[in-house]
Amino acid sequence: MAQQDIISPISPDLQQQVRQKTAQLLQIAESYYQRSFPVIPVLFDLRGKSAGMYRVQGGKRVIRYNPYIFARYFEDNFSQTIPHEVAHYITDVLYGLRQIRPHGSEWKSVMAVFGAEPSRTAIYDLTGIPQRQYRRFVYRCDCQNYELTTRRHNKILRGQGHYLCRECGSRLLFVAEGK
Ligand SMILES: [Zn+2]
Ligand SMILES: [Zn+2]
Repeated sequence: MAQQDIISPISPDLQQQVRQKTAQLLQIAESYYQRSFPVIPVLFDLRGKSAGMYRVQGGKRVIRYNPYIFARYFEDNFSQTIPHEVAHYITDVLYGLRQIRPHGSEWKSVMAVFGAEPSRTAIYDLTGIPQRQYRRFVYRCDCQNYELTTRRHNKILRGQGHYLCRECGSRLLFVAEGK
């Protein structure tokens, strides 16, 4: 993939707009439900194919967004993904996530309060957007380094095979886990 095809992540300015929009939605929810909803951390560290995710991590509520998908499809995500994830947060506070279906009637009614379309997820063209990084395992023969996939590494660990260097014919030996 050529360098110019790779898009940049969302800028700090636009991240700030996302946090402001989140705060606005929380105000709307507070006046509608007549209760407070604490400010929720908004992170831009999500990778993979999803634009956004609401999560409870170690007892802490957090909304995570994909910085690349937000950068490329900002308008879409601004009007749809933000209310989508904030509505998950609101339903969690109101009902508890385990008590309801993720995109059930409770979530839909919060989306209606926000005046947002209750569509589940958008499908985006992810060309040029970095995908989830896979683990690599560094191996070495007598002449060079190799990077093996998790699948091949596990196969070797289970004693189900080994790999020989194409150049020198010596057996590949595990060195370290790579990035
Ligand atoms: Zn959802
Ligand atoms: Zn070799």
